[in-house]
Amino acid sequence: MQLALSAQLLAGLVAPLALALSPRTEIADSYDFVVIGGGQAGLVLGGRLAEDTNHTVLVLESGGNGDEYRNRIDTPAYSYFDSLWTTPLNWGFYTVEQPNANDREIYWPRGKVLGGSSAINGLYMTRPGENEINAWQSMLGDMDGAENWSWDSFYSAMKKSETFSPPTDAVEKQADITWNSSTHGSDGPIHASYTGFTFDQVGQWSEACANIGIPISADMYGGSNWGAEVSTSCINPSNWTRSYSRTGYLDPLPDRGNYDVLANAHVTRIIFDSTSNLTANAVEYTPNNGTTKKTINVTKEVILAAGSVGSPAVLLHSGVGPKDVLSSAGVDLVHELPGVGQHLQDHLSATIKWTTDVETAGSIFYDNGSERNNPLFLTYIDSAIAYVNASNIYPTTLESELSTIQSKLTTYAPNTTYENTVLEGYKAIYNTTAQIFNSPTGLVELLFMNSDGNGDVGITAALQHPYSHGRIYINSSNPMDYPVIDPNYLSNPSGMPLPPILRTQDSQPKLTSTSDTSILTTALKLARRLGNTTPLSTNLTAETSPGSSTQSDSDWETWIRTNAGTEYHPSSSCAMLPLSQGGVVDANLRVHGLANVRVIDASVPPIALSTHLMASTYGVAEIGAAVVREFWDGGVQGGIAFSGGSLTNSSSSSSSRSSASASASASGTVEKNGAGGGMAWVRGPSWFWGVSLMVGAGVVFV
Ligand SMILES: Cc1cc2nc3c(=O)[nH]c(=O)nc-3n(C[C@H](O)[C@H](O)[C@H](O)COP(=O)(O)OP(=O)(O)OC[C@H]3O[C@@H](n4cnc5c(N)ncnc54)[C@H](O)[C@@H]3O)c2cc1C
Repeated sequence: MQLALSAQLLAGLVAPLALALSPRTEIADSYDFVVIGGGQAGLVLGGRLAEDTNHTVLVLESGGNGDEYRNRIDTPAYSYFDSLWTTPLNWGFYTVEQPNANDREIYWPRGKVLGGSSAINGLYMTRPGENEINAWQSMLGDMDGAENWSWDSFYSAMKKSETFSPPTDAVEKQADITWNSSTHGSDGPIHASYTGFTFDQVGQWSEACANIGIPISADMYGGSNWGAEVSTSCINPSNWTRSYSRTGYLDPLPDRGNYDVLANAHVTRIIFDSTSNLTANAVEYTPNNGTTKKTINVTKEVILAAGSVGSPAVLLHSGVGPKDVLSSAGVDLVHELPGVGQHLQDHLSATIKWTTDVETAGSIFYDNGSERNNPLFLTYIDSAIAYVNASNIYPTTLESELSTIQSKLTTYAPNTTYENTVLEGYKAIYNTTAQIFNSPTGLVELLFMNSDGNGDVGITAALQHPYSHGRIYINSSNPMDYPVIDPNYLSNPSGMPLPPILRTQDSQPKLTSTSDTSILTTALKLARRLGNTTPLSTNLTAETSPGSSTQSDSDWETWIRTNAGTEYHPSSSCAMLPLSQGGVVDANLRVHGLANVRVIDASVPPIALSTHLMASTYGVAEIGAAVVREFWDGGVQGGIAFSGGSLTNSSSSSSSRSSASASASASGTVEKNGAGGGMAWVRGPSWFWGVSLMVGAGVVFV
């Protein structure tokens, strides 16, 4: 028996969990929309698309529903102390050997459960900066749909997903938290708030940062994330549980009878119309690890939301991608799209550790500290952070560092493709990243950690805008085999000759010095300085890792190569870029060259963003859902519309919206394209922010 979740089974918005997850044995044969991946973005898409009752929607999730682990998912501190990494809720990927990181295969956890990575992650809720979102938009030029990706639009979408609550008085005081409610959402599905328990050391963080010249952030959530702050976390303060895409976008849904969510359904490929390779008309999945396969017909669109690893992997197994990858994996080519899986970027990080003479979350938990039985203790997760920009990292050498970085564009491009367009995309990303090098957006993130098992305190430094780019690909035609993850860490060198534009996939040579090692080295020195600065230094007794023997740049580089790992933020493997730059999706999130397939998840921003990726992924998914709904329906009448970054009541425009909607349903359909015999996207009207109210059992969210 398969486990299926259906809104039909939900008696109301506050239906008991057991009812929401009642097993079903049947789903329909055909849906208007099939969403691949019931992770963070996938459940946003499923929930939003199902608001239009004229659509039928199915979400297929490879992992289970997670019920048997619900207490561990829900309890914030169990992110550290009872981690879901050891369970089937984690894909538990590894990268391939990283030649510039001591040939290590580096661990890459990812969520495999309803809610995806938002169910197993560290709960930080931070946001990207205005200038990097606008830089992303400017990469799109005059592409149709580019207007969706301005900061104003993105800011509105992130707010739309969020309900903000301030900290308790006690935590506000002890952790020295400041906030600005106007930069947050007030009635979205996901809670952003603070822990119910904190430590004096958290309260020392911002002051210590200020003492070394890192400003205390004035407006971390309103577009300028540079500076130190105690960030929000996705915690529901009414019951101190994790707020994630399942609790926000699935569990509370009212019964509309048009939405199914099928867990334990691994999508093996998208099936295209035999008369037209461009039109997806079915999705194939397996409920039992590949033993049997089933198909679901699709009448409108397939939407990939399988994440930065899963989405390119499904495209590749469906025959859409670089022809060299498909041919060596033994997958028949359906549509050559060289950018699939390329342009992968990740936040590489490393942590300096100190012993301390005060209690930490780790020592309380593991050594039966005095607060261990305080229920509020289990709400604690680390959240003191600082986004540090180039003026902090390079106070005296900023201009020369920037010109070194700029000069390297002409000397290096990653060796991951046979195709010039993908190299053009690499250059575009590199140039854009260099343009925001010196800006109010963080080049590096510093994070305070006090949950270490042996009671140590750590300060992590994490690259936010890496110059080393890698790729996701497959080396087998079996969709149950894990995709190959090669982030190409620390590969951006100084002084390498430009490889030929058309090249073979020979292995990347080992390098000696890179932009990324240089930035991370400098950031780690800053982190060490921070740990040695009052008031934080008052209770840090000795540096244990890397320790005082690590001093020179070359010492740091050696240590980084041996110790650096992921901050769990891979992105850009289905980059939103023009086809001429190896793009995978256009500005309406449509896969280039396919009639009715989109990608909507963390894999689409073309540049790594300076933030933990949840808030930005909610932003991508909310915008994506609105784009799809506008395409098919011209939005929804009588709802709430976004305008210029703020929520506005749309009643005054309801009559014009009515007529726009009527005309869209005639024109906004996927129609036969006479020339190619395939299907073509026909766009609806240009406004799209209308959304319907979800009402039931006294709860309203939009
Ligand atoms: C350990 C960890 C800690 C993190 N910490 C933070 C944090 O503190 N704050 C923050 O903001 N971000 C954090 N992140 C990052 C953030 O959680 C992710 O970037 C974000 O959730 C990605 O959303 P997504 O929808 O793109 O992918 P996911 O949420 O990963 O969803 C993809 C879903 O697709 C499913 N899937 C994949 N392939 C298939 C297939 N073939 N068929 C069917 N289903 C499939 C997967 O099982 C998964 O459920 C963390 C991530 C991890 C892994």
